[in-house]
Amino acid sequence: VGEALARGLARIGDGARAAVVAAVVSMEESALLNAGRGAALAEDGTVSLDAGFMDGQTRRFGGVAGVRRTATPVRIAELLASDGEFGRLLIGDAADAAARTAGIAETSPEALVSDHARERARLRVADSTAPRGDTVGAVALDAQGHVAAAVSTGGLAGKRAGRVGDSPIVGAGFWADDRIGAAVTTGIGEALMRHGTARRCIELVASGASLREAARRSIDELGSSAIEVGRSGGIGGIIALTRHGEIAIDHDTAEMASGWGSPGEPTVVRSRWRDPVA
Ligand code: ASP
Repeated sequence: VGEALARGLARIGDGARAAVVAAVVSMEESALLNAGRGAALAEDGTVSLDAGFMDGQTRRFGGVAGVRRTATPVRIAELLASDGEFGRLLIGDAADAAARTAGIAETSPEALVSDHARERARLRVADSTAPRGDTVGAVALDAQGHVAAAVSTGGLAGKRAGRVGDSPIVGAGFWADDRIGAAVTTGIGEALMRHGTARRCIELVASGASLREAARRSIDELGSSAIEVGRSGGIGGIIALTRHGEIAIDHDTAEMASGWGSPGEPTVVRSRWRDPVA
């Protein structure tokens, strides 16, 4: 996370858009995180990647789901934000073809599978309570007052083949609006999609809540909406910022490694931002 922050901050002079993509690409390239190479395996042992991007200035978004031939799907999502009138969401082969056309480095589906991910999949079979997430994401505000959001994931470990989570779904996994702020989520995608968590957080700010209240409330709502399936907590997390530069990081999972920084200031990186819900 510290490395991703450094890579993002190094690009903030080129705008929030460049910064969030640089931060997320750095995490996609790390074989340790659930994104890009090394992403979590689906139940059939393959990797299929989802990613999303939104530009707060134009509110155009891009999304990709089921990517198998590039290790940096966030780059495709960013490109698709320039497509059509509002942006674009593409699946599978069409998303991979868009990457090829744009000259984004191609890889084989097998090369996305890491030993670390195989080992994690093996441990998960032994312990069904092992964490299944670790989506990566970034939000940024630049000196021109523009915000952006980017997110990338292999999805929930052991997911059903063909399953798509919240990360490529605008409003659920990511949201950016220069008039208010930007947010990115992680957690159980089906709960996040139903709740529309990233947009919900930003809308709460628009209706007068502080960003910290908004982040906490959106995560609490997410948790309470899952009581029906017998869960209390462990549903998700959010990172968010406003156009004024306020920052909020919140989660009801035990941990969510995250950080923040501004150019020329020391960065902050922690794995816990809230006491875990029992
Ligand atoms: N939200 C992702 C999904 O459901 C998983 C994660 O956050 O790690 O696909």
